[in-house]
Amino acid sequence: MSHPVHPVIAIDGTAASGKSTFSRRLSQKLGYAYVNTGAMYRGVTWYLQQRNVPLGEPEAVTRGLAGATLETRLENGELAFRISGVDPLPHVREGKVNDEVSLVARVAAVRKLLVAEQQRLAQLAPLVMEGRDIGTVVFPQTPYKFFLDADAVVRAQRRQNQGETDAILQRDVLDQQRENSPLTCASDALRLDSSLSTVDELIALALRHLASLGLKSQSHFS
Ligand code: C5P
Repeated sequence: MSHPVHPVIAIDGTAASGKSTFSRRLSQKLGYAYVNTGAMYRGVTWYLQQRNVPLGEPEAVTRGLAGATLETRLENGELAFRISGVDPLPHVREGKVNDEVSLVARVAAVRKLLVAEQQRLAQLAPLVMEGRDIGTVVFPQTPYKFFLDADAVVRAQRRQNQGETDAILQRDVLDQQRENSPLTCASDALRLDSSLSTVDELIALALRHLASLGLKSQSHFS
């Protein structure tokens, strides 16, 4: 893998742990682009669901994706993603996608395709990238890593407040136990618990941590 040209802040963690709010806010503070890789796995899931691919069968998932073309860009500091010319992002929070995304994300061929796209984005701009394997697999060499978690009750309440049905614990188990790139905290990541602190407190902590590692903020998109 080629080394990223720009700095990457890797943010991993459990479902509904507040990664997106934290990551987006941090990207704004630093003036970096924000990439939610969960949206890419969700987009692929939605695309395959539209084609009635049985997502419990890894071979069928691999075959279903074989003919698709992926287009991944940064637009105004955010991820733009098309599969065979279609933007799946308006559909990725549907309950049906929540239910099946972890089945798709365990398939090696899916991860290989998406990881290559994610690594390519770091050649374009400084990034805050959130997901499950960013600090462990996608950018293991970045020194800037965070791992977010929160009490399971707090996480479930969060999803309910967002009006979503999402079996988050079930997703976590599938994500943690899969063979390919399981969800795990990188040994050099700073662990943050979003049930104990506000987003503002977490951001302040993160900025201090990044500064201690020598990272200076720069404004690319404002
Ligand atoms: O972050 P989000 O909850 O939207 O991610 C949806 C799902 O996508 C996760 O539960 C996981 O199965 C998968 N995912 C992954 N690797 C990533 C990002 C997301 O496997 N880097």
